[in-house]
Amino acid sequence: MELWFNEKQTEAFGISVRVKETLVTEKTEYQDLAIVDTYEFGRMLTLDGMVMTTIKDEFTYHEMMAHPILASHPNPRHVLIVGGGDGGVVREVLKHPKVEKVVHVEIDSKVIEYSKKYLPEIAVGLSDPRVEVIVGDGFMHIHENKNKYDVVMVDSTEPIGPAVPLFERGFFQGIYEALKEDGMFVAQTDNPWFKSDLIRKVNRDIKEIFPITRLYTANVPTYPSGLWAFQIGSKKHDPLAVELDIDFLNKMETKYYSPAIHKACFVLPKFVEELVK
Ligand code: SAM
Repeated sequence: MELWFNEKQTEAFGISVRVKETLVTEKTEYQDLAIVDTYEFGRMLTLDGMVMTTIKDEFTYHEMMAHPILASHPNPRHVLIVGGGDGGVVREVLKHPKVEKVVHVEIDSKVIEYSKKYLPEIAVGLSDPRVEVIVGDGFMHIHENKNKYDVVMVDSTEPIGPAVPLFERGFFQGIYEALKEDGMFVAQTDNPWFKSDLIRKVNRDIKEIFPITRLYTANVPTYPSGLWAFQIGSKKHDPLAVELDIDFLNKMETKYYSPAIHKACFVLPKFVEELVK
């Protein structure tokens, strides 16, 4: 009998991935966690029935979370990552030699534990000496740290369960205060096809707090609709105006991000542009 993983986006639309083998299913303190091996995408981590990452397409999301913002900051020495317990964003951040320290705050220790065991290609950076892993709530961490980080990245689940506060205006205000005077942050904000209200709301909140805001997109085939949105808030540096270190970026090992993608990803389809006008 064929086994399929189904993620429902609406009552009438979802995505299906054919499963070869189930490796883990566990109800953690925070969410339902599963790791399955699939025919098309290799191993796949899901939380509360939603795809978090897969071996085949993880590079697009993790590169696009890390590189547009790190390439735009002249000296990103101290980086905070909220969520992202699989370690994919950590791995990408460590490709930037100016990064001296990464603080990684993930609420669910089980995500870290199982990612290290079953997704080592993704979790590889978690044991790097530059990385401090804190098992805790990113919302609390932001509010307990002021004027500390050059860059903050929010790699959260969709706004359900422990991730709900990570989409509130108060959280973005906290990020502003946790950043140094020329700090920048990025957050994943789901997809423009089915979550337009969320993208609109987050963009409105960020515009009220940060002088510079930019939205960009990337293609992630296992996320609903495939088109994923990322929101930047910046105190000083504009990712579209900065001079990129083209030599370094061309040499960096990536499969999706490039200096050309850096410019192109901010060009939005008209229906997405409408959401942030
Ligand atoms: N790339 C993924 C996506 O868009 O589907 C997100 C992946 S990552 C695994 C999301 C992580 O955020 C989860 O491991 C979850 O436990 C963590 N998380 C949720 N709420 C959190 C909070 N308040 N503080 C820290 N981490 C949180």
